[in-house]
Amino acid sequence: MDDLATEIHWKSLLLALPKNGVSRHFSTDEECELRLLEVLFPDGVICLDCGSNQLSHLADRHFYHCKECRSQFSARQGTIFERSNLPLLKWFICAETAIKAHAAKKLHVSFSISAVMMRLSVARKTSQRLRATVPQELLAPDGGVLGRCVSTQKIDLPNSCEPGTAGHLLWLDSALERQVRF
Ligand SMILES: [Zn+2]
Repeated sequence: MDDLATEIHWKSLLLALPKNGVSRHFSTDEECELRLLEVLFPDGVICLDCGSNQLSHLADRHFYHCKECRSQFSARQGTIFERSNLPLLKWFICAETAIKAHAAKKLHVSFSISAVMMRLSVARKTSQRLRATVPQELLAPDGGVLGRCVSTQKIDLPNSCEPGTAGHLLWLDSALERQVRF
């Protein structure tokens, strides 16, 4: 992505964040779990092997058992959350922190190792890992799975505005300004 595309990308993610902030919008991990399922399976959870919706939960609530083909799978399979013990809410807050820092071009202050440690109450090692993986995920189209989870507001770019142009960036800037005011 060139500079213009990168700036449009981060500001689009910023505009799509919940108006009241991620930690108020998703106050519990349960709500984050539901949001993740909604993003991954907009039409309801289906078996990753055969597509059946005849599923039962295993003892670990992240895992499903398919009654048709008997395979077992985790909804988090193949996502940035696979093999992570960090609560989803912290991932979501980290995404918000990263988006705000990138959009404001204040990475070294707002998304530093210590800033992430303080914001999420996590150890230095976790902060380092998040800083190495979260921005990469968010740079995927639509912000990847994590970006889509925290993009709760729909952005309606006017038809007159051609995506990816300087006009698009101007429109985002004024939309963000309006959002701050109200
Ligand atoms: Zn199946």
